[in-house]
Amino acid sequence: MPSLEADFDVVSALQRVSADTLGGMAGQSPPSTTSGRIRQRLHAARASFFANDNIAAYLKEGELEDLQEEVTEQVRGLLKALVIDVDNDHNTSETAERVAKMYLNEVFKGRYHPQPKVASFPNVKELDEIYTVGPITVRSACSHHLVPILGHCWIGIQPGERVIGLSKFSRIADWVFSRPHIQEEAVIILADEIETLCKPQGLGIVLKAQHYCMKWRGVKEPQTSMVNSVVRGSFRKSASMKKEFFDLIRQQDSLL
Ligand SMILES: [Zn+2]
Repeated sequence: MPSLEADFDVVSALQRVSADTLGGMAGQSPPSTTSGRIRQRLHAARASFFANDNIAAYLKEGELEDLQEEVTEQVRGLLKALVIDVDNDHNTSETAERVAKMYLNEVFKGRYHPQPKVASFPNVKELDEIYTVGPITVRSACSHHLVPILGHCWIGIQPGERVIGLSKFSRIADWVFSRPHIQEEAVIILADEIETLCKPQGLGIVLKAQHYCMKWRGVKEPQTSMVNSVVRGSFRKSASMKKEFFDLIRQQDSLL
């Protein structure tokens, strides 16, 4: 007789998740899972927890480790539902642990870990010439399929109130991109974070990336990339500033 164990695992997991969600919303018994308790806090704060949101502020000490155990069990359930013999296959016996660790601490770390510390300094010399930094490596994943989005971005600044070190742009970009995204929203989130950090007079970001949901599956277009940009402040108001920004990053692009 075939084992129905995998089915029961998935069903009981789903029941647990829905009970946590309902219990959390109705203020009933406390959720039995770590994710349930975190969701309850997010609901109570009316905080968004979309795939590209950071929820670090809603995790308590030690909960990331607990969440990793919970995700491990759920990934194991997924593998069983895919009819992979995780109990006997030496290649996949610890895949669930690896995938959970990878999601929470590597590829989606920008959801669960707080923003890296970035010191900003007053712009005492009142610098106002445009500078650009790039290419910055972009490693992300698409929200629709959870497969990689890989590419580069370029950031241009006309300094305003505060300045930050060049390497900090890479750190912030890595933190923002390490979440499931759609490219259109990713650049906006990155622009918002940079504006908050250094309040520039002008800001521009260009993102060029390849989407593995188009290369590996679906239409299977290996060369297609997506390019999008956001321009704010002086780069948006002044055609010459905007042109200078795009001219500068074109030179960096040619160095690739
Ligand atoms: Zn996709």
